[in-house]
Amino acid sequence: MTELLFHHDAYLQSFQATVTAARPGAVALDRTAFYPTGGGQPHDTGTLGGLPVTDVRHGEDEEGNTVVWHHVDGHDLSPGAEVEGVIDWDRRYALMRTHTALHVLCGVIWQRWRVPVTGGNMEPLSARMDFEFDPLPEGFGQEVERLVNDEVEADRPVVVSFLPRDTAVTDEDLIRTKVSLISESVPVIRVVDITGLDKQADGGTHVRSTAEVGGVRVVKTESKGKGNKRVRIEVVDAATGGG
Ligand SMILES: [Zn+2]
Repeated sequence: MTELLFHHDAYLQSFQATVTAARPGAVALDRTAFYPTGGGQPHDTGTLGGLPVTDVRHGEDEEGNTVVWHHVDGHDLSPGAEVEGVIDWDRRYALMRTHTALHVLCGVIWQRWRVPVTGGNMEPLSARMDFEFDPLPEGFGQEVERLVNDEVEADRPVVVSFLPRDTAVTDEDLIRTKVSLISESVPVIRVVDITGLDKQADGGTHVRSTAEVGGVRVVKTESKGKGNKRVRIEVVDAATGGG
């Protein structure tokens, strides 16, 4: 099983690892800081042994172990080889800011309107999220943008913890975000808590505090049908003065 270093340290930019499996164009490692696509967050890029990593995915090796496959064209690595991995930090950090911004968005929409999220997706510095509004409240775009930026400026800590499954499934905030849908084979659940705002079972990478998000612009709201309204955001650098 590949140890997921980003679960404990989202700020790790490079690491040493041992190759545990290799096939043409891809390698699995005993440990990795590369985030594999999942939970609405796209995979990292970077280098492994100096060669570009073009895709990162959850998968299995030939023995059926759960591993992370790093796609590396033209590699000549074989099991047992030591390699250095380096994350493309600009892209990853942008994704951490964006991912955290989405939690803030979910948190303020729940607190203000008690409306749950139905889905979402992100790219570096831009994202969309769907909510069960019907219809959207008047003046929604402006109001939600102000509420989100207030929480970003409040510099709330983003705390990661690991809960036994039995404990997590009785947590009111986690029930709301459908913790019960996580496979029963998962004994320990990773929880990302923006203190006092939003709490979710989550395997993604986030910044340490909401101020690191910078600022958020609501660029579009649109209807995707009954009870499904889409909010598009951009993550921008923090406003400097004025405002
Ligand atoms: Zn998250």
